[in-house]
Amino acid sequence: MIELDSNTLLLVNALFGALAVGVWLLLAFPFRVARQACVLLAGAQALMLPPLLAGPGPVQALAGICTLMALGMLSLGLRQLLRLRQQRLDLLSLLALGLFADLARLSGLSTGLSTALISLSMAALCLLAGRDLLLGSLGLAGWLRVGLVAPYALLACFLLLRGIALAQQEPGVGWLLQDPRRHAGLAAAWLVLAMAISGGLIALVLSRLIQRIESLTRHDPLTGLCNRRELREQLARQQVRAQRGRCHALLMVDLDHFKRINDELGHAAGDAALRHVARLLQASLREQDCAARYGGEEFALLLPDTPLAGAQALAERLRAALAASVWSWQGRHWPLTASLGLAMAAPGRFADALVEAADRAMYQAKAQGRNRVCLAPPVEGAAC
Ligand code: GH3
Ligand code: MG
Ligand code: MG
Repeated sequence: MIELDSNTLLLVNALFGALAVGVWLLLAFPFRVARQACVLLAGAQALMLPPLLAGPGPVQALAGICTLMALGMLSLGLRQLLRLRQQRLDLLSLLALGLFADLARLSGLSTGLSTALISLSMAALCLLAGRDLLLGSLGLAGWLRVGLVAPYALLACFLLLRGIALAQQEPGVGWLLQDPRRHAGLAAAWLVLAMAISGGLIALVLSRLIQRIESLTRHDPLTGLCNRRELREQLARQQVRAQRGRCHALLMVDLDHFKRINDELGHAAGDAALRHVARLLQASLREQDCAARYGGEEFALLLPDTPLAGAQALAERLRAALAASVWSWQGRHWPLTASLGLAMAAPGRFADALVEAADRAMYQAKAQGRNRVCLAPPVEGAAC
């Protein structure tokens, strides 16, 4: 078996760190992913390089400061990445404590106590980062969150042990470098933890990115409602339930004379009116309902487990709420109304037929004078 000495392992550590800096910068700049967070994380990795590479000398003497700053930047980057409340007092006080202790150590004051304090503040910074990660990854499976956070807890233990070891040594000796054989194990442990932390963070960023892309493919960018594709998928799922006798309803909502808004107030006003209607519709629905922007100024509302009476009542409530709502553009009040078509699902009425029936009912409402609800004729076998 090949035995690696601590200097080789430190070099591998440094190469891995340099690679991680490159990956964070690549994510931040060409790919423009969470730019501020990625720059902070690249900075944290870069600050870890001098202590790893420098031999005994002035740079090594500053190893404590570099490591402290690196851990501070890691915590800040994490908070930015996870969009946690940017409260920085805890980080700043730990950094100040560590820096103060390191300066005391460098000037030869109570070196044992100073070293212990530096390690303590580093370990506390690691624990803070782990806690932030635990809080910011609530959407992930429990075992994944534990896997992400475990390296921070281990690193905190590692830093505390290192502090105890260094506190008992001669003053002025750099860490991990003074006895290569004795410290090979520590260098290997550091490498594994650094890999686990960087790997975990990169995986987290990529999974967030995938989630975001997935959300963009399912939502309408103007209103934030579901798009037609998402509606289709939900309709197909509801259709399976309809075959087993459950009932759902589909409401098509088309704004009346919408073109006039664009013509008289401009396209930006039209967009604002669409967002206003989307908010109103979304606010009136239950969590299990799906509000989608079906086309330009046409919305579709899918109402699972809703019998005819309930769907009709909701449709009428929505119509009245929109007609009574106040929408104005640059101080000019503009009345908004919509025509609604309602169709009830049935085992033999497949998604396309349901949409077509609701659409036809909506055009009937237009033909009857707009600002009203029309019901599509029921089909045979309808459960509700
Ligand atoms: P009706 O009562 O018969 O439905 O009349 P309408 O004017 O609402 O319907 P029409 O189909 O004639 O016009 C729809 C308009 O909606 C035309 C189009 O410019 C506008 N529109 C579609 N999508 C958007 C959008 O994303 N933003 C804006 N501002 N306007 C849009
Ligand atoms: Mg219209
Ligand atoms: Mg239309």
